[in-house]
Amino acid sequence: MKIQRLKTKVVKIGELKLGGNNPVRIKAMLKTSTRDVKNLLKEARQLKEEGAEAIRLAVREEKDAPLVKLLKKEVGLPFVADVHFNYRCALSAIAEGFDAVRLNPLNIYKKDQVKEVVREAKARGISLRVGVNSGGFKRKFKHSQELARAMVESLAGYIKILEALKFFDIMVSLKGRDVMSTIWANRLFAQKFNYPLHLGVTATGSFLEGTVKSSIGLGVLLQDGIGDIIRVSLTAPSFWEVRLAKEILQALKIRQFGPQIISCPTCSRCEVNLIDIVDKFKKRLQASNFKEPREIALMGCVVNGPGEAMQADIGAAFGKTKAVIFQDGKIVKQTTQDKVIEDLLKGVKYGYK
Ligand code: SF4
Repeated sequence: MKIQRLKTKVVKIGELKLGGNNPVRIKAMLKTSTRDVKNLLKEARQLKEEGAEAIRLAVREEKDAPLVKLLKKEVGLPFVADVHFNYRCALSAIAEGFDAVRLNPLNIYKKDQVKEVVREAKARGISLRVGVNSGGFKRKFKHSQELARAMVESLAGYIKILEALKFFDIMVSLKGRDVMSTIWANRLFAQKFNYPLHLGVTATGSFLEGTVKSSIGLGVLLQDGIGDIIRVSLTAPSFWEVRLAKEILQALKIRQFGPQIISCPTCSRCEVNLIDIVDKFKKRLQASNFKEPREIALMGCVVNGPGEAMQADIGAAFGKTKAVIFQDGKIVKQTTQDKVIEDLLKGVKYGYK
């Protein structure tokens, strides 16, 4: 059964539409310093190749803003300026051609400054993301729900200001420092407003912890039908954030980007080195550039192997030295351990007649 998404307003980041019936989008953020333009471009190109659909750049000073021209020309994606404290950076970002600007209600809030930014955004026809992060509050909260309420209140007040200025091209983000505050804040917001939500759990930690927190936080909300664009945050290279975002969307069957491998954890019944086989198969599959959405099972023994391999589009179930390949629920080939990768790849790419 498909997840029923909450209907939100359609807002654009450049040509990229989000909200409404549009797919849940993937956003990335650049980590290279704006002083290192060569590597900044390299990172942006890599993020596009990985599947990012919009990229955010921290505009710390007004002189960072002109970089957007080069980035857009070389990468060909919409770019969002991430601005804090200095509203003049937002004005420069808009003037230089960013497709959206992220404002933080906790550090750019003076009415005359907001008014000026809104006037320019309107004149250029760009959208604004209003994003509250838990780290923006300079006080301690008793529990996650209290933090969630504070985030929503601060956003609601800001949205009122934007709406009073007749500005409605708004995206919103509420990123808590933990999974629960993020979930509560986004649920609370989605009950009251229909602006598209950019989801993310912030400051998640390094690879393992960040993967768990992002997968749970984003997964729960997406399962609720909440979320129009996602950004995974990891203390790790940025391409992992895009890969993980794609995996989350694929796991929930919200979007399909390519083949998915189903493999068992192995146990003492397993008589082949399945970890090594799966690893080698994955590398071969990636190298083959096969992008169609297929479920491919690689299972260690006859307990669950035949069942999983039958239910997948194609799969191999291992015995002692041999493996059986299933395609669309039927056995199509018997093979050996040393030939299984080749035979399975052949089946994935061309199918067995
Ligand atoms: Fe163990 Fe077989 Fe299950 Fe794999 S499929 S975990 S080898 S029982």
